[in-house]
Amino acid sequence: MRILAVEDEPGIAQFVRQGLSEAGYAVDVARDGEEGLDYALAAEYDAIVLDVLLPRMDGLSLLRELRDRGIKTPVLLLTARDAVDDRVQGLDAGADDYLVKPFAFPELLARIRALLRRPPLQAGTVLHVGDLEMDTARREVRRAGRTIELSPREFALLEYLMRHPRQILSRTQIAEHVWNFDFYNESNVVDVYIGYLRRKVDHGFDQPLIHTVRGVGYQLSLAAEDA
Ligand code: CA
Repeated sequence: MRILAVEDEPGIAQFVRQGLSEAGYAVDVARDGEEGLDYALAAEYDAIVLDVLLPRMDGLSLLRELRDRGIKTPVLLLTARDAVDDRVQGLDAGADDYLVKPFAFPELLARIRALLRRPPLQAGTVLHVGDLEMDTARREVRRAGRTIELSPREFALLEYLMRHPRQILSRTQIAEHVWNFDFYNESNVVDVYIGYLRRKVDHGFDQPLIHTVRGVGYQLSLAAEDA
């Protein structure tokens, strides 16, 4: 899952970038409101962490601009402790949740997980496709009860596939949701990581779950559907 953080304070921006990356998310950080808007319009993010007090364009203006343009990406606002007005205005402007600074990192992660659970994505912290099971809170994956160890990027890729079961996903769609701008132009990164996942998720099982849809991309399902 790919997250945009819009935060101008270097210490917090670095803390958020590092923490979310370690949790397996693809992260882009924008340092002011206008840059944040550029990023949000250029890529399809799964969630946006948005500071309210930003140079060049404040967070609430950025949020209204996104909603005016029909962009429904879940937004978590970061606000100051005494800024009740910001929170009220933010929720009214279309924010999905807020977190008061300073915050504990596990709470930020839990709130992001909650935002990512909302429809149309599959509900709940445990995802299932056939005998494959992923607990997104504990970050554990099992197939037929057997634990599968994944790197953070492999986990992120599998999570994206499991949140869109049976859908045919193009390489571009997958890349945009699993890698940030630093990586996703590397053309074969998706194929390489699908190969890693296949070895861990499908190897040794009778029924493959990861299917190549020729000329299009990939699909996670019990049986390959006719494309
Ligand atoms: Ca700020």
